[in-house]
Amino acid sequence: MTTPEPRPSSTPPEHPQADPLDPAFQDALVDGAARLTPEQALDLWHRTPLADLGALADRRCRTIHGDSIRTYVIDRNINYTNVCTAKCTFCAFRRDQGDDDAYTLEYDELLNKIREVVAIGGTQILMQGGMNPELSLDWYLELLRRIKSEFPQVHVHAFSPPEFIEFVNFFDPPGDSLKEKIRAVMGPLVEAGLDSVPGGGGEIFADAVRRKIGLGKCTAEAWLTVMRVAHEFGLNTSATMMFGHIEGIGDRIHHMDTVRRWQDDAIRELADDGGGRYHAFISWPFQPDNTPLGRLKEWGHGPGDDPADPYPGDAVARLDGSGNKNDHPEFGRRLRLAGSTAYLRTQALSRLYLDNIWSIGSSWVTMGPHIGQVGLRYGANDMGSVMMEENVVSSAGTTHCLNEPMICRLIRDAGFVPAQRNNDYQVLKSHFAPDGPDLAVEDWSDYRAPSLHQQNESEDAGGGCESNYGTTSGDASAIVDITIRGS
Ligand code: SF4
Repeated sequence: MTTPEPRPSSTPPEHPQADPLDPAFQDALVDGAARLTPEQALDLWHRTPLADLGALADRRCRTIHGDSIRTYVIDRNINYTNVCTAKCTFCAFRRDQGDDDAYTLEYDELLNKIREVVAIGGTQILMQGGMNPELSLDWYLELLRRIKSEFPQVHVHAFSPPEFIEFVNFFDPPGDSLKEKIRAVMGPLVEAGLDSVPGGGGEIFADAVRRKIGLGKCTAEAWLTVMRVAHEFGLNTSATMMFGHIEGIGDRIHHMDTVRRWQDDAIRELADDGGGRYHAFISWPFQPDNTPLGRLKEWGHGPGDDPADPYPGDAVARLDGSGNKNDHPEFGRRLRLAGSTAYLRTQALSRLYLDNIWSIGSSWVTMGPHIGQVGLRYGANDMGSVMMEENVVSSAGTTHCLNEPMICRLIRDAGFVPAQRNNDYQVLKSHFAPDGPDLAVEDWSDYRAPSLHQQNESEDAGGGCESNYGTTSGDASAIVDITIRGS
């Protein structure tokens, strides 16, 4: 099977003088015959009512993905260690070596988690962890070999760019440049079984923001270089953006613009030789609980704040990413958290701006299943994964779990046919009526929506969400009994 993603024949032209609200220009955007400039994107953001922006993104999504199928994947997030040398201010997951609750999974524990996801029809694992200096390259190679030996069919989507940069720092591979060193580490990992690279750690690329929130984390240039090397190896990747903290709207657009430019290069320079590219873009709002960043005051609530003034992040942001922290005394000291409408607006804009990215994923994990569902009408074509386990955003106070019948029902209730995909966005099973994991459920009382949002304060939960997925049957339609846990 090959990916359904067609190779764009050419980059759409820009029309910088066009009014982005002009219906003819918007028709061209929907058809992929015109490209937004950063200035037009900012204009569109400020002048378009939310529902109109969503409708425009929905039209664009239907041009690319049709009116029928919207997808999901069955995989498992495995966070193999929480020991991390970085100190990102938005992170509630990391621990120092020696902390009581620091952990690194044993191989057997990890393989058992994969066994469980395979039993419910899972096709991939998303494996990421902290930057743990105790783990050697051999540890990672042996891990991949064991996974591929027992589960050759499972797609291993693993090790985000910040982890790769730390691999370079920890393992000191040969090479005269960062790119060569990344190659020297990535090559053996690919040989051992790495299939694709997730886009974690993208956050916001603008330097002024990144320096404030990602202490010890790799630069934007390094992040992008890891992805470029992955594309050169023929691996596909995703790109992410975490917003709704100290950044301005212009920073979000600069972030999307950066992804779009590097994607243009990947398609132009590598596609003919079997190179990879960004398959998907997923954005989500910062989750503040239990994080140092979350202790900042929201804009308008600090001493001397005048909410009528521009938000400090907007005062600093520049569309070319050159914002200077000194341009506002309160930059980095005030938050502007993003709620549902800011999320939907951002996601819709990403669909319109990223004309060279195949999939836009809706982030139900952070936003909750129902906003994730609405996201399918705001430009997203994919609901992401059922969630057996998640430890990172759940540490920051957000925990939602879904199983296959639920995710299918959410997609169907949004007006689409749910379809299981693999990592390459190939459809594995389309659930047209009368068949489908959701349509087989006769009693939804165990699946009620409020339970999806339940925040269990249980102290013994330890974060993350665990669901009893009925793994012995291997029948996805038998999945029941969701337990939601939050720390
Ligand atoms: S976000 Fe990742 S890199 Fe940053 S502190 Fe947390 S675990 Fe470490």
